[in-house]
Amino acid sequence: MKLQGKEGSRNIDDRRGNRGRGMSGRTKTAGGFGLGTLIIVIIVLLMGGDPSELLESSGGAAAPAPAQTTGGVVEETTNAQIVSVTLRDTEKLWGQKFPQEFGRNYQEPTLVLFDGQTSSACGFASAATGPFYCPADKQVYIDLSFADLLRRRFGAPGDFALAYVVAHEVGHHIQNQLGYSQQVSQARRRMREKDANAMSVRLELQADYLAGVWAHYADRYSDLLSDGDIEEAIQAASAIGDDKIQKQSQGYVVPDSFTHGTSAQRVRYFTAGYRSGDASKKSLDYFFQAREL
Ligand SMILES: [Zn+2]
Repeated sequence: MKLQGKEGSRNIDDRRGNRGRGMSGRTKTAGGFGLGTLIIVIIVLLMGGDPSELLESSGGAAAPAPAQTTGGVVEETTNAQIVSVTLRDTEKLWGQKFPQEFGRNYQEPTLVLFDGQTSSACGFASAATGPFYCPADKQVYIDLSFADLLRRRFGAPGDFALAYVVAHEVGHHIQNQLGYSQQVSQARRRMREKDANAMSVRLELQADYLAGVWAHYADRYSDLLSDGDIEEAIQAASAIGDDKIQKQSQGYVVPDSFTHGTSAQRVRYFTAGYRSGDASKKSLDYFFQAREL
């Protein structure tokens, strides 16, 4: 990514300074990702998949603090910059698109950077939790050790893989504002598990599509992308497909239990968003109207 001289977001709540109370040092992943870690990651990759299970709360958002880009190891600083610049770019894009496409203003989400552990209106988050969006407090939570996990465990290297994850989580925030998340959680309550999972897949693939739409504009107008960045995002989308994760963890694939979509689906819809840049209501409704995705 071309980060130099790019503006960062003011909506970063950097809680990484909250270490030093004897917890973060040890709970942070210390290399060697065993089955336990993988299981936790799988659980967490269900992030945003079922907002209905999350607590309803009016919980006030924490006051945004400016992004800290000093201190910490060099790699973390770089990752924090990727997150901050990406978030800012999504704010600009969706700030324009919301009035144009949906006749309303975009409410910028706060993004919480943490290490060790932190609390959210959706419950407790630990270092192994991975990125997620909490609809109850409208905040995105990211522990930057996930970037290393993407690299080492899922073989998805590169700065743009992390940017894709940020844009995907912002996608869940968009779904929350536009009512798609609520629609899905209501529908899920009346469904058998198999059908409920299929609804979650639609929501996840729509978030991948929204990440792709952002990448379209980041590439053409924000001059953020370097050669190979789209391939990095595609590699990340492919690496975290449900089928691949299941195969790695249990050796076989159970399609009915998918809640994020297969690798092929995730790649297909990220790419579709990237090619078209189409953020119209019609293109978003498609994810809940098409017989199959
Ligand atoms: Zn998701």
